[in-house]
Amino acid sequence: MKHYAGVDIGGTNMVIGIVDETGKTRKMVKIATQVQRGGEDVVARLAEAIERVKQEAQVEIEGVGIGVPGFVDHVKGTSVFAANLGWRDFPLADLLSARIGGLPVFVNNDVRMYVYGEATGGAGRGFNHVLGITVGTGMAAAMFNEGRLYYGSGGRAGELGHIALEGIDYVCNCGLTGCLETVASATGIARQAREAVERGESTVLAEKFPGEKAANITAADVSRAYDAGDPAAIAVLNRTGTLLGRGLATAITLFSPDLIVVGGGAAQAGERLLKPMREEMERAALSFYWKDLHIKPAELLEDAGVVGSALYAKGRLEAGVIL
Ligand SMILES: [Zn+2]
Repeated sequence: MKHYAGVDIGGTNMVIGIVDETGKTRKMVKIATQVQRGGEDVVARLAEAIERVKQEAQVEIEGVGIGVPGFVDHVKGTSVFAANLGWRDFPLADLLSARIGGLPVFVNNDVRMYVYGEATGGAGRGFNHVLGITVGTGMAAAMFNEGRLYYGSGGRAGELGHIALEGIDYVCNCGLTGCLETVASATGIARQAREAVERGESTVLAEKFPGEKAANITAADVSRAYDAGDPAAIAVLNRTGTLLGRGLATAITLFSPDLIVVGGGAAQAGERLLKPMREEMERAALSFYWKDLHIKPAELLEDAGVVGSALYAKGRLEAGVIL
């Protein structure tokens, strides 16, 4: 049995795991990223952590896959721009490889790693054309097509959260106004609920989170209020699902996937979100695109980034080409 290390780097934590060739996690560790200590320091602690989990799992590894937020050059293995890590043209693969005895290191965007994992070892097994979306703190997408990821020019394909839609007027972190992710994300769901409270709507959320406490509402609170039949919470998740469906109507018409995998924290809203999403997709796209389309929740859940990155390393080593 062959083994690989999978790494998921975020602004706060990095998760490092040893994954076998079937996608099963053997050992996992989470350490603070501590971006303020600089990239070289992050790489040094990453190398130590890989060595540690390898020893705990008592296996040798064939290579390492790393998912990084933002824009990456997956051919060179560099982080081109990661806002929350402060990295620009950072040669992550080369630096790490040099610290772990020259083992091959593959770097890709974190959402692509998650979609690769779901497509090859999760909900997407058996499907050739998989569109994966994450609805978490933000919203993003990636496309897996006949064994390979789709990159587009400059590797920028997939930022579905940053299309401006009519009916949204929030300013996004990216600088545009009206981006889908300002609504279709955990942050967006919480914000809409908070605004309903501030407008003085009659909602159980106003009783639980009066006045300034409204800032503490989470997407999970909105789901709970929805289940209690709260009209404001129902309106928020309906609107969110509808706008998500509108964005996806464009995506399925362009890519014609046979499966959409929905992951990320806010995806735990499940049918509360997926029902209005499906309805809007069916209203806004031709039936050819959705009549045989499957929609499934992600299977790999919290270790999706680690498993996806490890399976990606396996895929690259076995195929011998860029996937
Ligand atoms: Zn945006």
